[in-house]
Amino acid sequence: MRIVCPFCGERELGEFSYLGDAKSVRPVAGASQDEVYDYVYLRDNIAGVTSENWYHGGGCRAWLKISRNTLTHEISSVEPAAGAGAKQVAK
Ligand SMILES: [Zn+2]
Repeated sequence: MRIVCPFCGERELGEFSYLGDAKSVRPVAGASQDEVYDYVYLRDNIAGVTSENWYHGGGCRAWLKISRNTLTHEISSVEPAAGAGAKQVAK
């Protein structure tokens, strides 16, 4: 699998680290113990397109949000993660 980083271009998978589901939302302060447990320990095992956080540690060190089909590994979009402090380079 190869990933096209918006800053570095197409790179091999070994330069990136998978950092989890990009759709999970941190519970608000005062949330129940069950909500916190679900956020920390429980994950959906989606067969299809999912949104994931990746880190380009072997390159620009940017956090990326990637839409990937877990069945085919086809990547449909790659963009800088929100709050990562970087904006996509205009082409
Ligand atoms: Zn990069």
